[in-house]
Amino acid sequence: MKIVVIGAGYVGLVSGVCFADFGHNVICVDVNREKIKDLSNGIIPIYEPGLDELLAKNLQSKRICFSDNLKESIIDAQVVFIAVGTPERRGSGEADLEYVMKAAEEISKFAQNNILIITKSTVPLGTNRKLAEHIKKFNPELKFDIASNPEFLREGSAIEDFQKPDRVIVGIDDDRSKNIIQEIYKPLFLRDFPIMFTSLESAETIKYASNAFLATKISFINEIAELCEKAGADVKDVAKGMGLDNRIGNKFLHAGPGYGGSCFPKDTSALYQSAKSFDVELSIIKTVIDANNKVKSRMIEKIVNASAISLEESTILVLGVTFKPNTDDMREAPSLVIIPELIKRGAKIRVIDPQGEKEGSVLLPKVEWHDDLYHAAVNSDMVLILTEWNEFRAVDLRKLSDLMANPIMVDLRNIYNKDQVFMAGFTGYESVGR
Ligand code: NAD
Repeated sequence: MKIVVIGAGYVGLVSGVCFADFGHNVICVDVNREKIKDLSNGIIPIYEPGLDELLAKNLQSKRICFSDNLKESIIDAQVVFIAVGTPERRGSGEADLEYVMKAAEEISKFAQNNILIITKSTVPLGTNRKLAEHIKKFNPELKFDIASNPEFLREGSAIEDFQKPDRVIVGIDDDRSKNIIQEIYKPLFLRDFPIMFTSLESAETIKYASNAFLATKISFINEIAELCEKAGADVKDVAKGMGLDNRIGNKFLHAGPGYGGSCFPKDTSALYQSAKSFDVELSIIKTVIDANNKVKSRMIEKIVNASAISLEESTILVLGVTFKPNTDDMREAPSLVIIPELIKRGAKIRVIDPQGEKEGSVLLPKVEWHDDLYHAAVNSDMVLILTEWNEFRAVDLRKLSDLMANPIMVDLRNIYNKDQVFMAGFTGYESVGR
Protein backbone atom coordinates (compact mmCIF):
# COMPACT_ATOMS: atom_id res chain seq x y z
CA MET A 1 0.00 0.00 0.00
CA LYS A 2 1.23 3.51 -0.72
CA ILE A 3 1.17 5.64 2.41
CA VAL A 4 2.02 9.31 2.80
CA VAL A 5 2.94 10.59 6.25
CA ILE A 6 2.82 14.36 6.74
CA GLY A 7 5.30 15.50 9.39
CA ALA A 8 8.67 13.80 9.90
CA GLY A 9 9.06 14.52 13.62
CA TYR A 10 9.30 12.01 16.47
CA VAL A 11 5.93 10.45 15.61
CA GLY A 12 5.77 10.87 11.82
CA LEU A 13 9.29 9.63 11.25
CA VAL A 14 9.02 6.60 13.54
CA SER A 15 5.58 5.72 12.12
CA GLY A 16 6.78 6.16 8.53
CA VAL A 17 9.86 3.98 9.06
CA CYS A 18 7.84 1.31 10.88
CA PHE A 19 5.10 1.28 8.20
CA ALA A 20 7.86 0.82 5.59
CA ASP A 21 9.22 -2.02 7.70
CA PHE A 22 5.73 -3.57 7.68
CA GLY A 23 6.20 -3.72 3.88
CA HIS A 24 4.29 -0.61 2.72
CA ASN A 25 5.62 2.06 0.38
CA VAL A 26 5.98 5.21 2.40
CA ILE A 27 6.69 8.82 1.57
CA CYS A 28 7.34 11.09 4.55
CA VAL A 29 6.64 14.72 3.75
CA ASP A 30 7.87 17.63 5.83
CA VAL A 31 8.02 21.39 5.27
CA ASN A 32 11.51 21.43 6.79
CA ARG A 33 13.75 21.01 3.74
CA GLU A 34 16.94 20.49 5.68
CA LYS A 35 15.33 17.64 7.60
CA ILE A 36 14.17 16.07 4.33
CA LYS A 37 17.63 16.36 2.81
CA ASP A 38 19.25 14.76 5.86
CA LEU A 39 16.69 11.98 6.09
CA SER A 40 17.07 11.17 2.39
CA ASN A 41 20.76 10.61 3.16
CA GLY A 42 19.98 8.44 6.16
CA ILE A 43 20.83 11.20 8.68
CA ILE A 44 18.36 11.34 11.55
CA PRO A 45 17.75 14.76 13.10
CA ILE A 46 16.58 13.33 16.43
CA TYR A 47 17.99 10.80 18.86
CA GLU A 48 15.85 7.69 19.01
CA PRO A 49 17.52 4.35 19.77
CA GLY A 50 17.45 1.91 16.84
CA LEU A 51 15.88 4.34 14.38
CA ASP A 52 19.03 4.84 12.30
CA GLU A 53 19.39 1.09 11.55
CA LEU A 54 15.72 0.69 10.70
CA LEU A 55 15.76 3.76 8.45
CA ALA A 56 18.92 2.59 6.66
CA LYS A 57 17.35 -0.83 6.05
CA ASN A 58 14.17 0.63 4.57
CA LEU A 59 15.96 3.30 2.55
CA GLN A 60 18.06 0.57 1.03
CA SER A 61 15.04 -1.50 0.13
CA LYS A 62 13.46 1.69 -1.29
CA ARG A 63 10.31 1.26 0.76
CA ILE A 64 10.65 4.74 2.26
CA CYS A 65 11.60 8.10 0.80
CA PHE A 66 11.33 11.71 1.92
CA SER A 67 10.00 14.80 0.21
CA ASP A 68 9.03 18.42 0.84
CA ASN A 69 6.51 18.27 -1.99
CA LEU A 70 3.08 16.98 -0.94
CA LYS A 71 1.56 17.57 -4.35
CA GLU A 72 3.90 15.09 -6.02
CA SER A 73 4.03 12.70 -3.08
CA ILE A 74 0.31 12.23 -2.66
CA ILE A 75 -0.35 11.12 -6.28
CA ASP A 76 -1.69 7.53 -6.13
CA ALA A 77 -1.61 7.44 -2.31
CA GLN A 78 -4.53 5.54 -0.80
CA VAL A 79 -3.78 6.76 2.67
CA VAL A 80 -2.35 9.91 4.22
CA PHE A 81 -1.42 10.20 7.88
CA ILE A 82 -1.29 13.60 9.53
CA ALA A 83 1.52 13.55 12.12
CA VAL A 84 2.32 17.25 12.52
CA GLY A 85 2.74 18.96 15.89
CA THR A 86 -0.14 20.13 18.07
CA PRO A 87 1.70 22.32 20.60
CA GLU A 88 0.04 24.30 23.35
CA ARG A 89 -1.24 27.63 22.11
CA ARG A 90 0.60 30.25 24.14
CA GLY A 91 -1.46 31.68 26.95
CA SER A 92 -4.66 29.71 26.32
CA GLY A 93 -3.66 26.16 27.27
CA GLU A 94 -5.58 24.87 24.22
CA ALA A 95 -4.04 22.68 21.51
CA ASP A 96 -2.85 24.79 18.59
CA LEU A 97 -4.40 23.12 15.53
CA GLU A 98 -2.79 25.44 13.00
CA TYR A 99 -0.42 22.79 11.59
CA VAL A 100 -3.10 20.11 11.42
CA MET A 101 -5.53 22.43 9.62
CA LYS A 102 -2.83 23.56 7.21
CA ALA A 103 -1.94 19.95 6.42
CA ALA A 104 -5.63 19.24 5.81
CA GLU A 105 -5.89 22.19 3.42
CA GLU A 106 -2.94 20.89 1.45
CA ILE A 107 -4.41 17.39 1.31
CA SER A 108 -7.68 18.87 0.02
CA LYS A 109 -5.83 20.54 -2.84
CA PHE A 110 -3.74 17.62 -4.03
CA ALA A 111 -5.29 14.32 -2.95
CA GLN A 112 -7.20 12.02 -5.28
CA ASN A 113 -10.71 10.77 -4.65
CA ASN A 114 -11.27 8.02 -2.07
CA ILE A 115 -8.25 8.89 -0.03
CA LEU A 116 -8.35 7.89 3.63
CA ILE A 117 -7.07 10.71 5.86
CA ILE A 118 -5.85 9.43 9.22
CA THR A 119 -4.99 11.74 12.09
CA LYS A 120 -2.06 10.54 14.18
CA SER A 121 -1.45 13.91 15.79
CA THR A 122 -3.03 14.26 19.23
CA VAL A 123 -6.12 16.38 18.66
CA PRO A 124 -8.92 17.42 21.03
CA LEU A 125 -12.38 15.96 21.06
CA GLY A 126 -14.32 16.96 17.95
CA THR A 127 -11.28 17.88 15.85
CA ASN A 128 -11.57 15.06 13.30
CA ARG A 129 -15.11 16.10 12.38
CA LYS A 130 -13.98 19.74 12.15
CA LEU A 131 -11.11 18.61 9.96
CA ALA A 132 -13.54 16.87 7.60
CA GLU A 133 -15.62 20.07 7.38
CA HIS A 134 -12.48 22.08 6.75
CA ILE A 135 -11.46 19.81 3.87
CA LYS A 136 -14.97 19.92 2.36
CA LYS A 137 -14.87 23.71 2.50
CA PHE A 138 -11.60 23.81 0.58
CA ASN A 139 -12.51 21.13 -1.94
CA PRO A 140 -16.22 20.22 -2.00
CA GLU A 141 -15.57 17.76 -4.87
CA LEU A 142 -13.07 15.56 -3.02
CA LYS A 143 -14.37 12.18 -1.87
CA PHE A 144 -12.51 11.08 1.25
CA ASP A 145 -12.89 9.28 4.56
CA ILE A 146 -11.43 10.28 7.85
CA ALA A 147 -10.07 8.20 10.73
CA SER A 148 -8.43 8.93 14.04
CA ASN A 149 -5.43 6.80 14.99
CA PRO A 150 -3.79 8.47 17.99
CA GLU A 151 -0.23 7.44 18.71
CA PHE A 152 0.97 6.08 22.06
CA LEU A 153 4.68 5.55 21.40
CA ARG A 154 7.16 6.80 23.98
CA GLU A 155 10.31 8.61 22.94
CA GLY A 156 13.32 6.49 23.86
CA SER A 157 11.50 3.22 23.12
CA ALA A 158 9.47 4.43 20.16
CA ILE A 159 10.26 1.60 17.74
CA GLU A 160 9.52 -1.16 20.23
CA ASP A 161 6.30 0.66 21.22
CA PHE A 162 5.25 0.96 17.58
CA GLN A 163 6.11 -2.60 16.66
CA LYS A 164 4.77 -4.17 19.84
CA PRO A 165 2.04 -1.83 21.02
CA ASP A 166 -0.18 -2.42 24.04
CA ARG A 167 -3.01 -1.46 21.69
CA VAL A 168 -3.79 0.35 18.46
CA ILE A 169 -6.77 2.66 18.79
CA VAL A 170 -8.71 3.63 15.69
CA GLY A 171 -11.71 5.93 15.44
CA ILE A 172 -13.71 5.37 12.24
CA ASP A 173 -17.05 6.14 10.66
CA ASP A 174 -17.28 3.43 8.00
CA ASP A 175 -16.27 -0.13 7.09
CA ARG A 176 -14.08 0.83 4.13
CA SER A 177 -11.73 2.70 6.49
CA LYS A 178 -11.72 -0.26 8.86
CA ASN A 179 -10.58 -2.61 6.08
CA ILE A 180 -7.80 -0.25 4.98
CA ILE A 181 -6.54 0.18 8.53
CA GLN A 182 -6.58 -3.58 9.10
CA GLU A 183 -4.43 -3.87 6.00
CA ILE A 184 -1.99 -1.18 7.21
CA TYR A 185 -1.58 -2.85 10.59
CA LYS A 186 -1.75 -6.42 9.27
CA PRO A 187 1.62 -7.47 10.77
CA LEU A 188 0.29 -6.49 14.19
CA PHE A 189 -3.12 -7.97 13.54
CA LEU A 190 -1.52 -11.31 12.63
CA ARG A 191 0.42 -11.34 15.89
CA ASP A 192 -2.70 -10.64 17.97
CA PHE A 193 -1.83 -7.16 19.17
CA PRO A 194 -5.15 -5.58 20.16
CA ILE A 195 -6.59 -3.23 17.54
CA MET A 196 -9.65 -1.48 18.89
CA PHE A 197 -12.09 0.20 16.53
CA THR A 198 -14.32 2.86 17.98
CA SER A 199 -15.89 6.21 17.09
CA LEU A 200 -13.83 9.27 16.18
CA GLU A 201 -14.83 10.95 19.44
CA SER A 202 -13.92 7.96 21.60
CA ALA A 203 -10.51 7.57 19.93
CA GLU A 204 -9.74 11.24 20.52
CA THR A 205 -10.79 10.93 24.15
CA ILE A 206 -8.86 7.68 24.75
CA LYS A 207 -5.62 9.44 23.82
CA TYR A 208 -6.12 12.44 26.10
CA ALA A 209 -7.62 10.46 28.96
CA SER A 210 -4.68 7.99 28.85
CA ASN A 211 -2.05 10.73 29.02
CA ALA A 212 -3.97 12.60 31.69
CA PHE A 213 -4.29 9.43 33.78
CA LEU A 214 -0.54 8.76 33.59
CA ALA A 215 0.18 12.39 34.49
CA THR A 216 -2.20 11.97 37.44
CA LYS A 217 -0.20 8.98 38.70
CA ILE A 218 2.98 11.07 38.57
CA SER A 219 1.47 14.07 40.35
CA PHE A 220 -0.12 11.74 42.88
CA ILE A 221 3.17 10.09 43.85
CA ASN A 222 4.90 13.49 43.92
CA GLU A 223 2.39 14.67 46.51
CA ILE A 224 2.80 11.48 48.51
CA ALA A 225 6.58 12.08 48.31
CA GLU A 226 6.16 15.41 50.06
CA LEU A 227 4.17 13.69 52.79
CA CYS A 228 6.81 10.95 53.08
CA GLU A 229 9.52 13.56 53.62
CA LYS A 230 7.59 15.18 56.46
CA ALA A 231 6.42 11.89 58.01
CA GLY A 232 9.69 9.94 57.77
CA ALA A 233 8.45 7.40 55.21
CA ASP A 234 10.33 6.36 52.06
CA VAL A 235 8.40 7.04 48.84
CA LYS A 236 10.31 4.33 46.96
CA ASP A 237 9.05 1.73 49.42
CA VAL A 238 5.59 3.27 49.37
CA ALA A 239 5.44 3.19 45.56
CA LYS A 240 6.76 -0.36 45.47
CA GLY A 241 4.22 -1.49 48.04
CA MET A 242 1.40 0.24 46.17
CA GLY A 243 2.55 -1.08 42.82
CA LEU A 244 2.43 -4.68 43.96
CA ASP A 245 -1.34 -4.30 43.86
CA ASN A 246 -2.27 -5.31 40.30
CA ARG A 247 -5.10 -2.81 40.27
CA ILE A 248 -2.55 -0.02 40.74
CA GLY A 249 0.57 -1.30 38.96
CA ASN A 250 4.12 -0.05 39.51
CA LYS A 251 4.51 2.12 36.40
CA PHE A 252 4.52 5.91 36.60
CA LEU A 253 4.92 5.89 40.36
CA HIS A 254 8.41 7.40 40.45
CA ALA A 255 8.62 10.56 42.52
CA GLY A 256 10.71 13.31 40.94
CA PRO A 257 10.78 16.89 39.70
CA GLY A 258 7.43 16.63 37.86
CA TYR A 259 6.40 15.40 34.44
CA GLY A 260 7.64 17.15 31.30
CA GLY A 261 8.10 16.28 27.66
CA SER A 262 6.28 16.93 24.45
CA CYS A 263 2.98 15.37 25.53
CA PHE A 264 1.84 15.36 29.17
CA PRO A 265 2.04 19.11 29.88
CA LYS A 266 0.28 20.19 26.69
CA ASP A 267 -2.18 17.28 26.63
CA THR A 268 -3.38 17.70 30.23
CA SER A 269 -3.84 21.37 29.54
CA ALA A 270 -5.62 20.82 26.21
CA LEU A 271 -7.91 18.20 27.76
CA TYR A 272 -8.86 20.58 30.55
CA GLN A 273 -9.56 23.41 28.10
CA SER A 274 -11.46 21.29 25.59
CA ALA A 275 -13.69 19.85 28.35
CA LYS A 276 -14.61 23.40 29.28
CA SER A 277 -16.02 23.90 25.78
CA PHE A 278 -18.42 21.04 26.63
CA ASP A 279 -19.25 22.75 29.95
CA VAL A 280 -17.37 20.11 31.90
CA GLU A 281 -14.94 21.10 34.64
CA LEU A 282 -12.23 18.44 34.94
CA SER A 283 -11.21 19.32 38.47
CA ILE A 284 -8.84 16.36 38.92
CA ILE A 285 -6.88 17.32 35.80
CA LYS A 286 -6.71 20.94 36.95
CA THR A 287 -5.23 19.78 40.27
CA VAL A 288 -2.73 17.54 38.47
CA ILE A 289 -1.53 20.48 36.37
CA ASP A 290 -1.24 22.75 39.42
CA ALA A 291 0.57 20.08 41.42
CA ASN A 292 3.05 19.59 38.58
CA ASN A 293 3.86 23.29 38.50
CA LYS A 294 4.17 23.40 42.28
CA VAL A 295 6.55 20.45 42.51
CA LYS A 296 9.20 22.31 40.49
CA SER A 297 9.23 25.18 43.02
CA ARG A 298 9.52 22.63 45.80
CA MET A 299 12.54 21.10 44.04
CA ILE A 300 14.20 24.51 43.70
CA GLU A 301 13.83 25.13 47.44
CA LYS A 302 15.20 21.64 48.12
CA ILE A 303 18.31 22.45 46.06
CA VAL A 304 18.80 25.81 47.76
CA ASN A 305 18.45 24.28 51.22
CA ALA A 306 20.85 21.45 50.42
CA SER A 307 23.63 23.78 49.33
CA ALA A 308 26.58 24.03 51.73
CA ILE A 309 27.32 27.60 50.63
CA SER A 310 25.27 30.45 49.18
CA LEU A 311 24.06 29.94 45.62
CA GLU A 312 25.98 33.04 44.45
CA GLU A 313 29.22 31.22 45.27
CA SER A 314 28.09 27.81 44.04
CA THR A 315 29.06 25.84 41.00
CA ILE A 316 26.47 23.15 40.39
CA LEU A 317 27.12 20.17 38.16
CA VAL A 318 23.81 19.09 36.60
CA LEU A 319 23.50 15.51 35.35
CA GLY A 320 20.84 15.35 32.64
CA VAL A 321 18.66 18.03 31.10
CA THR A 322 16.42 16.11 28.69
CA PHE A 323 12.89 15.46 29.96
CA LYS A 324 13.71 11.78 30.33
CA PRO A 325 16.56 9.40 29.40
CA ASN A 326 17.12 7.99 25.90
CA THR A 327 15.86 11.05 24.08
CA ASP A 328 17.28 14.40 23.02
CA ASP A 329 13.87 16.01 23.50
CA MET A 330 13.94 19.01 25.82
CA ARG A 331 10.32 20.07 25.43
CA GLU A 332 8.91 21.10 28.83
CA ALA A 333 11.81 19.40 30.62
CA PRO A 334 11.94 20.24 34.37
CA SER A 335 15.54 21.42 33.72
CA LEU A 336 14.14 24.37 31.75
CA VAL A 337 12.46 25.68 34.91
CA ILE A 338 15.00 24.61 37.53
CA ILE A 339 18.28 25.65 35.84
CA PRO A 340 17.26 29.23 34.86
CA GLU A 341 16.00 29.79 38.42
CA LEU A 342 19.31 28.60 39.90
CA ILE A 343 21.18 30.87 37.49
CA LYS A 344 18.91 33.77 38.46
CA ARG A 345 19.85 33.15 42.08
CA GLY A 346 23.54 33.38 41.21
CA ALA A 347 24.69 29.77 40.73
CA LYS A 348 27.13 28.77 38.00
CA ILE A 349 25.89 25.71 36.11
CA ARG A 350 27.87 22.97 34.39
CA VAL A 351 25.92 20.35 32.47
CA ILE A 352 26.51 16.81 31.26
CA ASP A 353 23.85 15.13 29.12
CA PRO A 354 24.49 12.26 26.67
CA GLN A 355 22.14 13.70 24.03
CA GLY A 356 20.83 17.04 25.30
CA GLU A 357 23.51 19.49 24.22
CA LYS A 358 22.28 20.20 20.69
CA GLU A 359 18.87 21.47 21.76
CA GLY A 360 19.95 22.40 25.26
CA SER A 361 22.62 24.84 24.12
CA VAL A 362 19.86 26.92 22.49
CA LEU A 363 17.39 26.63 25.38
CA LEU A 364 19.93 26.97 28.20
CA PRO A 365 22.45 29.45 26.82
CA LYS A 366 24.08 30.37 30.14
CA VAL A 367 25.40 26.97 31.12
CA GLU A 368 28.78 25.35 30.54
CA TRP A 369 28.58 22.04 28.61
CA HIS A 370 30.94 19.20 29.45
CA ASP A 371 31.58 15.74 28.06
CA ASP A 372 33.59 14.31 30.92
CA LEU A 373 31.81 13.93 34.24
CA TYR A 374 34.93 13.84 36.42
CA HIS A 375 36.54 16.78 34.67
CA ALA A 376 33.31 18.75 35.10
CA ALA A 377 33.17 17.86 38.80
CA VAL A 378 36.46 19.56 39.70
CA ASN A 379 35.83 22.17 42.43
CA SER A 380 32.06 22.01 42.07
CA ASP A 381 29.81 22.47 45.09
CA MET A 382 26.90 20.21 44.24
CA VAL A 383 25.97 17.44 41.85
CA LEU A 384 22.31 17.70 40.86
CA ILE A 385 20.67 14.73 39.11
CA LEU A 386 17.78 15.84 36.90
CA THR A 387 17.54 12.99 34.35
CA GLU A 388 18.11 9.33 35.14
CA TRP A 389 20.31 8.37 32.19
CA ASN A 390 21.89 4.94 32.74
CA GLU A 391 25.33 6.57 32.50
CA PHE A 392 24.60 8.39 35.77
CA ARG A 393 23.68 5.26 37.68
CA ALA A 394 27.15 3.78 37.70
CA VAL A 395 29.27 6.78 38.62
CA ASP A 396 32.44 6.29 40.70
CA LEU A 397 31.04 8.23 43.66
CA ARG A 398 34.31 8.20 45.61
CA LYS A 399 36.22 9.71 42.69
CA LEU A 400 33.44 12.26 42.21
CA SER A 401 33.35 13.38 45.84
CA ASP A 402 37.15 13.67 45.96
CA LEU A 403 37.11 16.09 43.03
CA MET A 404 34.38 18.35 44.39
CA ALA A 405 34.92 21.38 46.61
CA ASN A 406 31.70 20.63 48.50
CA PRO A 407 30.55 17.05 47.92
CA ILE A 408 26.80 17.47 48.12
CA MET A 409 24.38 15.44 46.00
CA VAL A 410 20.79 16.39 45.18
CA ASP A 411 19.27 13.38 43.48
CA LEU A 412 15.86 14.35 42.10
CA ARG A 413 15.42 10.92 40.44
CA ASN A 414 16.18 8.80 43.52
CA ILE A 415 18.82 6.74 41.72
CA TYR A 416 21.18 6.55 44.72
CA ASN A 417 20.62 6.16 48.42
CA LYS A 418 21.91 8.07 51.38
CA ASP A 419 24.18 5.39 52.90
CA GLN A 420 25.89 4.67 49.61
CA VAL A 421 26.51 8.34 48.91
CA PHE A 422 27.79 9.15 52.42
CA MET A 423 30.09 6.11 52.37
CA ALA A 424 31.64 7.51 49.19
CA GLY A 425 32.61 10.72 50.95
CA PHE A 426 29.67 12.99 50.27
CA THR A 427 28.72 15.26 53.15
CA GLY A 428 25.15 15.92 52.04
CA TYR A 429 22.47 13.98 50.16
CA GLU A 430 18.93 15.03 49.29
CA SER A 431 16.45 13.05 47.27
CA VAL A 432 12.67 13.07 46.75
CA GLY A 433 10.26 11.63 49.29
CA ARG A 434 12.85 9.92 51.47
P1 NAD B 1 7.44 17.23 16.02
O1 NAD B 1 7.37 18.66 16.35
O2 NAD B 1 8.63 16.43 16.40
O3 NAD B 1 7.23 17.02 14.45
C1 NAD B 1 6.25 17.66 13.69
C2 NAD B 1 6.78 17.78 12.28
O4 NAD B 1 5.72 18.25 11.44
C3 NAD B 1 7.91 18.80 12.12
O5 NAD B 1 9.02 18.17 11.51
C4 NAD B 1 7.32 19.90 11.24
O6 NAD B 1 8.27 20.49 10.39
C5 NAD B 1 6.28 19.12 10.46
N1 NAD B 1 5.19 19.91 9.85
C6 NAD B 1 4.45 20.87 10.42
N2 NAD B 1 3.53 21.33 9.54
C7 NAD B 1 3.67 20.61 8.40
C8 NAD B 1 3.02 20.59 7.13
N3 NAD B 1 2.00 21.39 6.86
N4 NAD B 1 3.46 19.73 6.20
C9 NAD B 1 4.51 18.92 6.44
N5 NAD B 1 5.16 18.88 7.63
C10 NAD B 1 4.76 19.72 8.59
O7 NAD B 1 6.12 16.59 16.69
P2 NAD B 1 5.94 15.13 17.30
O8 NAD B 1 6.58 15.06 18.64
O9 NAD B 1 6.28 14.12 16.27
O10 NAD B 1 4.37 15.12 17.55
C11 NAD B 1 3.45 15.02 16.48
C12 NAD B 1 2.09 14.73 17.05
O11 NAD B 1 2.09 13.44 17.68
C13 NAD B 1 1.63 15.72 18.13
O12 NAD B 1 0.25 15.91 18.03
C14 NAD B 1 1.96 14.99 19.43
O13 NAD B 1 1.13 15.38 20.49
C15 NAD B 1 1.67 13.55 19.04
N6 NAD B 1 2.41 12.56 19.83
C16 NAD B 1 3.73 12.77 20.12
C17 NAD B 1 4.44 11.81 20.84
C18 NAD B 1 5.89 12.02 21.18
O14 NAD B 1 6.41 11.26 22.01
N7 NAD B 1 6.58 12.99 20.61
C19 NAD B 1 3.79 10.63 21.24
C20 NAD B 1 2.46 10.44 20.90
C21 NAD B 1 1.78 11.41 20.19
